[in-house]
Amino acid sequence: METISDNLRLIHKEIKAACMKCGRDPSDIRLIAVSKTKPAELVKAACEAGQLDIGESYVQEFLEKQASGLLSNLPIRWHFIGHLQSNKAKDIVGRTTLVHGIDKPSTAAELSKRAARQGVTADYLIEINTSGEASKFGLAPDELLSLIPRFFELPNIRLRGLMTIASPDREKARQEFRLLAKLLEKLRSISPHPNLLTELSMGMSQDYDIAIEEGATMVRIGTAIFGSRNR
Ligand SMILES: *Cc1c(COP(=O)(O)O)cnc(C)c1O
Repeated sequence: METISDNLRLIHKEIKAACMKCGRDPSDIRLIAVSKTKPAELVKAACEAGQLDIGESYVQEFLEKQASGLLSNLPIRWHFIGHLQSNKAKDIVGRTTLVHGIDKPSTAAELSKRAARQGVTADYLIEINTSGEASKFGLAPDELLSLIPRFFELPNIRLRGLMTIASPDREKARQEFRLLAKLLEKLRSISPHPNLLTELSMGMSQDYDIAIEEGATMVRIGTAIFGSRNR
């Protein structure tokens, strides 16, 4: 538990250092602690150390943790960062502060429908496959630009920006982050609500310093906070 607060302190220090390097304000970067596969006890420890933005990737695990007595009274802001399948949209709507992993108009449409049914508005990001790796989820950049009108027209959901998972290679990762930032600029120029398009969710334990240099507003960090995972 001690180590979690130490890890968080170290990461905040490195976020500050990355910001210094490129003249950004550290308060413009939101740290999301990714707790997938880790028990609720560790999430509680992170919260007690002041870390209230928590990311989960698997719907079932997310719902279990959110309902856990250990966490249910804490003011956690839950981020769903996994790939969302449209049949799961109903399970997470109304329970998250931001959905990061939407990569199809049909999934966004389902989220929209469920949000409307609950009388809420859901904020989301579109996931982009910036590396072109076949194993990764996300829209290709050219697909994004051709499909975007279908996202823009959906009620009860608000597109807030873009998300990506970069290549393991740090130099490649930098190019991919740069591409994501460019795509967000492009979207702003054609969106009916450009002021809503503020978020770039990019950077993980291995590359968040680079992501910050390239404009990240949210970094999603698991291993460097909670330790390595078995799956
Ligand atoms: C697991 C995961 C992370 C965290 O990765 P680490 O390398 O452990 O920091 C970030 N984003 C997504 C989408 C993830 O699935």
